[in-house]
Amino acid sequence: MQNDIEKILVSEEEIQKRTQELGAELSAEYKDKNPLVVGILKGAIPFLSDLTKAMDVKLEMDFMDVSSYGSAMVSSGEVKILKDLDTNVEGRNILIVEDIIDSGRTLSYIIDMFKYRKAKSIKIVTLLDKPEGRVVPLEADYVGFLVPNEFVVGYGLDFIEHYRNLPYIGVLKPEIYE
Ligand code: 5GP
Ligand code: MG
Ligand code: MG
Repeated sequence: MQNDIEKILVSEEEIQKRTQELGAELSAEYKDKNPLVVGILKGAIPFLSDLTKAMDVKLEMDFMDVSSYGSAMVSSGEVKILKDLDTNVEGRNILIVEDIIDSGRTLSYIIDMFKYRKAKSIKIVTLLDKPEGRVVPLEADYVGFLVPNEFVVGYGLDFIEHYRNLPYIGVLKPEIYE
């Protein structure tokens, strides 16, 4: 699997260090706020797992699955809820955890939905941000790393469901797509 990687953009050590920093910031922000940490399946799982372990706060976790990319590398622009939360968000402090923000469509849809459901506050933490990909205006409150406009895999991010278990963020060799 690692042999399919052309280059590493963010190393395992960098991810772990940044995750500890973000965890400390979020611990201060959410002290005594009993946040509902919402992971967007499946890409956010490794990041959410490490990030919440770095947060010394009482919190709850829930998960949503939305369609954005399917198995392709280009966003369809259409957002559909495949699995909704089990938790009522009304009056809750919501922390959305994402793997990467590209066009911004997925999160902007989810945020509108949480506003409609009367969340008390909504913030976003994303491991990666690809600002050049933005189609709708959207900014994360906490960003791990900025990445260039390239298709990346690893640490939750897939190509046709593979590579999510890489401990770092990398770019695939061109022959893998072909
Ligand atoms: P957006 O709605 O912001 O365009 O898309 C966000 C979702 O698309 C991410 O949560 C992720 O699942 C997928 N995505 C965006 N860019 C990449 C990328 O470079 N690599 C991978 N594997 N998925 C991506
Ligand atoms: Mg995602
Ligand atoms: Mg994907």
